[in-house]
Amino acid sequence: VTQRFSTAAAIEDPIAPPVQVNYTQLLIAGKFVDSASGKTFPTLDPRTGEVIAHVQEGDAEDVNRAVCAARKAFDEGPWPKMTAYERSRILLKFADLLDKHNDELAALETWDNGKPYEQAANIEIPMCSRLIRYYAGWADKIHGLIVPADGPHHVQVLHEPIGVAGQIIPWNFPLLMFAWKVGPALATGNTIVLKSAEQTPLTALYAAKLLHEAELPDGVVNVVSGYGPTAGAALASHMDVDKLAFTGSTETGMIVQELAARSNLKPVTLELGGKSPFIIMDDADVDQAVELAHFALFFNQGQCCCAGSRTFVHESVYDEFVEKAKARALKRVVGDPFKKGVEQGPQIDDEQFNKVLRYIRSGVDCGATLVTGGERAGSKGFYIQPTIFSDVKDNMAIAQDEIFGPVQSILKFKDLNEVIQRANASKYGLAAGVFTNNIDTANTLMRALRVGTVWINCFDIFDAAIPFGGYKMSGVGREKGIDCLKNYLQVKAVVSPLKNAAWL
Ligand code: NAD
Repeated sequence: VTQRFSTAAAIEDPIAPPVQVNYTQLLIAGKFVDSASGKTFPTLDPRTGEVIAHVQEGDAEDVNRAVCAARKAFDEGPWPKMTAYERSRILLKFADLLDKHNDELAALETWDNGKPYEQAANIEIPMCSRLIRYYAGWADKIHGLIVPADGPHHVQVLHEPIGVAGQIIPWNFPLLMFAWKVGPALATGNTIVLKSAEQTPLTALYAAKLLHEAELPDGVVNVVSGYGPTAGAALASHMDVDKLAFTGSTETGMIVQELAARSNLKPVTLELGGKSPFIIMDDADVDQAVELAHFALFFNQGQCCCAGSRTFVHESVYDEFVEKAKARALKRVVGDPFKKGVEQGPQIDDEQFNKVLRYIRSGVDCGATLVTGGERAGSKGFYIQPTIFSDVKDNMAIAQDEIFGPVQSILKFKDLNEVIQRANASKYGLAAGVFTNNIDTANTLMRALRVGTVWINCFDIFDAAIPFGGYKMSGVGREKGIDCLKNYLQVKAVVSPLKNAAWL
């Protein structure tokens, strides 16, 4: 792996180290290479819309080269054949390198994505190394079974790597999604072709370079930057990809699942959109509920698949809640994500920026009450004011669609059965938040809500061992935790006659 070029450091701020873009090529078979077409695409700074760097644009031909490299690395080894302990040691080395480069990776992430530097440096990049260590710990604990046979047979069930994994990730948590994808796939001995999001290609290339510094064999992880309908679709439909893992919108999830089915029926796991309810009961401490509901929605500029984007508030505390939620939103610090204390940076790009503003207009047009915000913030870049609507009705677009921006929709409810029915009346089922002091209410809600995660009196807790994924149109399968390992394992039954069995 060699370094291609460096652009000048573009960020000067005391809380972030200077950062430069060193890797803009595709990483195939352990080498940084140009795209076959020679095309590049710009990646932009969401604070200004200016170009950070031009990145090599992979398409079908590059995906094919990367899949061939991953296939060779899988079929000829050494990766799937080395001891699990050796694989685990490489993953642990990689985790150490992530820690060593934490601040630089965080600065690059902020530059490319617009998220607050403090969030990237103190929460997200450390979560990546934690998750890699978690899966390094699993590598040598994955084993099959010996199962009883009805006749004189010795029956073994082997758990083998599935082969070449295709992985497609979004832009909202670029490096964290990289870690969620490569961690379990590598621990189980697979090889990978990963396509990063076109808005945020930089940290995946940097991390892949660190993987090679940790002595990952060439061809085990290949990174292709590029667009969805070209590079992404080529990966989803490639005949030599054995498994596909995708995170992004529900619409694209349906496309990639179809591409996977129509090519070689590769199994697909999907982590898709959401419209998560956050339910505040009448016994709740209103100040705490306001703070948690604010965090649940506004974290990461509202660009979270699990964002608590339907804030259901019991009628007895509703007026007080709306007033206090407004005061909290007005205090939210919006600004340059490299500055200390900034809670909210810009949206990722002009497309998302315009989409969010369109939803805000639709909320006003439908008759919801605009409590605060509603406009762009500042005069350049993709900043949006923290926005709150009250008097939101279930049938409004702002209560049904994934806005993916800093827009809180507050809905009023009267009783538990009503809120359960309304919370579940969504095509999504990713997550839910519950805020109550009553254990019976908490127990009822946690069982009644048709979602993959219920956070009770907390939100967005993402430990490595906690499985994450959706019911309904929020996804297929689970990521993180032990549940993710089976996505990357084949099951082989081996039966042999048992002669002279000692005890049968
Ligand atoms: P997207 O689903 O279009 O993109 C996600 C990934 O899929 C990217 O890497 C993209 O290049 C790739 N992709 C796009 N079209 C593809 C295709 N035809 N074949 C294969 N891969 C393809 O999401 P987006 O356009 O970046 O954002 C749109 C919306 O998706 C957002 O507004 C938000 O609602 C949702 N979203 C959800 C998540 C999540 O974590 N659930 C993350 C990002 C975006």
